Formats: sequence, structure tokens, C-alpha cells
Amino acid sequence: ATPTAILVGTSLGAERGILIKGGDVLEQMHLLKTVVFDKTGTLTVGQPKVTDCCPWGLYQPSELLQLAASVEKGSNHPLATALVAEAQKQELPLLAGEHFHTEAGLGVVAQVIWQGSPQRVLLGNQAWLEQHQIRIPQEVEAQGEHLAQGGKTVIYLAVGSEYGGLIAVADQLRPDAAQTVQGLQEMGLEVVLLTGDRPTAARAIAQKLDIEQIYAQVSPSAKAGIVQTLQNSPTTAPVAMVGDGINDAPALAQADVSIALQSGTEIAMETASIILMASQGVAIPLHPVLEAIQLSQATFKKIR
Ligand code: ADP
Ligand code: MG
Repeated sequence: ATPTAILVGTSLGAERGILIKGGDVLEQMHLLKTVVFDKTGTLTVGQPKVTDCCPWGLYQPSELLQLAASVEKGSNHPLATALVAEAQKQELPLLAGEHFHTEAGLGVVAQVIWQGSPQRVLLGNQAWLEQHQIRIPQEVEAQGEHLAQGGKTVIYLAVGSEYGGLIAVADQLRPDAAQTVQGLQEMGLEVVLLTGDRPTAARAIAQKLDIEQIYAQVSPSAKAGIVQTLQNSPTTAPVAMVGDGINDAPALAQADVSIALQSGTEIAMETASIILMASQGVAIPLHPVLEAIQLSQATFKKIR
């Protein structure tokens, strides 16, 4: 890296809540044509709240929540935190469990003791339940679609091989998400939304932010594949990826410039070359991304 780049990178970090690991990264940023954003925990603050608890069959809403929270104990996904927090608020004790397993971008499973006997409880998106041969009733599909149209994330639960109900959660956009997206678009950059959530929920968020390019229901490895596709076209390369989760790590590793939020998982932060820093009491802002690109352009476009 040139001495200027290192100097600029360092001062930017100190002043504006962005940590750039080395001057090369800042130098690369003036060439960017595309910025890809993850949805949950990146464009949204990642503190979702439970809004709907819709059991199926004989369960009570509180039982559905209790089962779900007990399985999420083994996960540090924002959705897991939301369910555990709601169970705590309703003073529902978590059930004893073992064999906790997380499938990134799909869901979680564990064996819990329910009414005296061990049961496998699955929790996740529709595809994850279908992979396990759980049949979701037709009227439930319509209900899920309706909730997703409101931008909510829908989580489905099964006990054994039987569908047991759905829980919807709602998250808020980061306060500066719209402003940051608009700023990038005004600079002529393409903004892309990339999420493991379903298309309907993705569209609801994209509409609020004026993002046209959406890739939904994308697995962690497919996220990396989409970044690669964008890198292969001269109209969209080079590509920056902004993400927070374990499910974003492959895409971050693939991108030309990788940006992680400090609130995110360890692996995302290790992989990324830029960190958006947290400061107490406020949501991590996204606009330092915009400022770093502007600064890179101001610094390096003059040189050539
Ligand atoms: P995003 O790409 O928007 O950050 P993820 O890839 O983390 O979202 O998750 C995609 C979908 O997988 C979620 O919308 C949810 O339906 C399901 N999912 C992932 N992790 C969990 C979990 N811990 N509990 C329940 N559902 C989950
Ligand atoms: Mg995420």
C-alpha cells in the first residue's frame, strides 16, 4: 500500500467508526461498481421482536414459544435471541435439551424433553422443514406469505415429524440504511440485496430502500456464488459485500472488498477487511461505507 492510503485508512478509523485493515483495501474501494448487502442484521438492526405466535393442533401459543426458545438456546442468530427474549419476558422456563445443531441459513434442531419424553424439535424456514419431510398445511402457507408481505420473518416449528406452528418476528431497518443505499446509487454504484430469507420478506425490505436487485432464499455457499457471478461481469465488478453473520462468511471471503459489522459473528469479522464499529447506545451506522468509497475516490482518482 502507498503511505497515503495507510494514513488515510487509519485516520478514517479513528474518526468515523470504520476500521480498515490495511491501505490496499481503501485503495481498491474507488474501483467498486457493486455493493451487496445482507438483510438480517445488516440492513436491519438485527434485534427482531416476536409479533405473532400461531400454534397448529393442540399447542398453546405459550407452549409453541417455549418449545421454540428451548431449541434456539443453542444458536446465536438474531432470530434465536428474539425468541429466547420473548420466552423470558413471558416467564416461560426453557426445556432441558441436548444434541443442539444449527444449519446456517436454514434453522436449528435439538432434542428436548417435552411432557416427560424426548422429542426432536425442528425450527427454521420452510425449505428446512420440507427437507425433513414435514408437511406444512396449505392454509398455513397463505398465512406465512401474508406475514412475509409485511416484511416479517416467519419461522416454522415441528415436533417429531408433525408441523407445530409458526412464529413471526419483525426487525427494524437501520436508521441510515435508506440514506446509505441512496448515496451509493447516486454515486453510480449498483446496490444488491442478498438474503437467506424468503423472496416476499426480501421484497418488502427492498421496496422501502429502493433496491431493485434482490436475491432471496440463498444458502451461505450460494451467497458466495452470487458475489462471484457479479465479479465475472465487467459492468458489476469489482464487488463489495456487507454482512454480519456466519452465513455471510463465504460471500465475504469471495468479495473484492469485504465489510462486516462489529455486532456480527466472530467468523464474519475475521474474514472481513473492513469492520463497521459499534458505539454504545446507537445502532451501528452503514454510512461509513459510503464515506470510505468517497474518500477512496477523492484520494486515488487524482493519482491516475
Ligand atoms: P439473512 O441472510 O437475511 O441474514 P439467514 O441466512 O441468517 O438470513 O437466515 C435465513 C433464514 O433461515 C431465516 O429467515 C430463517 O427463516 C432461517 N433461520 C436461520 N437461522 C435460524 C435460527 N437460528 N432459527 C430459526 N430460523 C433460522
Ligand atoms: Mg445476516
